Amino acid sequence: MGIKENLLNIRKTISECAIKSGRGENDVKLVAVSKFHPAESVLEAISCGQLLFGENRVQEAAAKFDFVRSTGAEPCLHIIGSLQRNKVKEAVRIASCIESLDRIELADEIEKQCAKIGKKIDVLLEIHTGEESKSGFSSEEDVALVLEKCAAGEYGHIVPKGFMTMAPNTDDESLVRKSFSYLRELRGRMSSRFPSLSLSELSMGMSGDYEIAISEGATIVRIGTAIFGQRDYSK
Ligand SMILES: *Cc1c(COP(=O)(O)O)cnc(C)c1O
Repeated sequence: MGIKENLLNIRKTISECAIKSGRGENDVKLVAVSKFHPAESVLEAISCGQLLFGENRVQEAAAKFDFVRSTGAEPCLHIIGSLQRNKVKEAVRIASCIESLDRIELADEIEKQCAKIGKKIDVLLEIHTGEESKSGFSSEEDVALVLEKCAAGEYGHIVPKGFMTMAPNTDDESLVRKSFSYLRELRGRMSSRFPSLSLSELSMGMSGDYEIAISEGATIVRIGTAIFGQRDYSK
């Protein structure tokens, strides 16, 4: 099936899951993950009304989205992959949100680069909840430290919006659920600890597990394969 049919089907499923979990049909945002797929695929998705995209490699994303934007299109881009310090400058130039803030030093660098260009950027704190994935904060105290600095106004250009995670890649649904419910509970703890911050977003769920994620409270799902097809990693 093509990108258009895939997007229609996924949007329908997302709406149904959102309603089942007591939310409005448009309450869950879809990040179309276009990594390893060409600019033409992004443009096709845009022509179907999809304006929010996710990429995990900054250089690939910059080339692709600079081209897409040169055609006059105005997509939003989230960086969802682990971010090296020397890529932050380029990342904050092209993205509206960094979903993969996973260490304190990275927050310092994002603040520094955003201050230079006078841009405020949304961030999600990535949390390690599944055994297989290595990325994300694994200490709640480190998470609190970053949020503390945000609440104290030390990061004037960083707007924390919530949390992101990747569930373990397993057929055991209970493990996947556990990972998502952990993220939701962490949001609850951090929201009561930092009432001045608005930490409503939960970015969780990919092609294989987004229905479970929405039932556990996802507000953002990140879907690649189910929209664009298999990725060709040999490229
Ligand atoms: C690639 C990727 C996705 C999308 O995965 P699919 O299984 O293709 O839907 C979601 N989140 C992150 C962080 C990714 O790197």
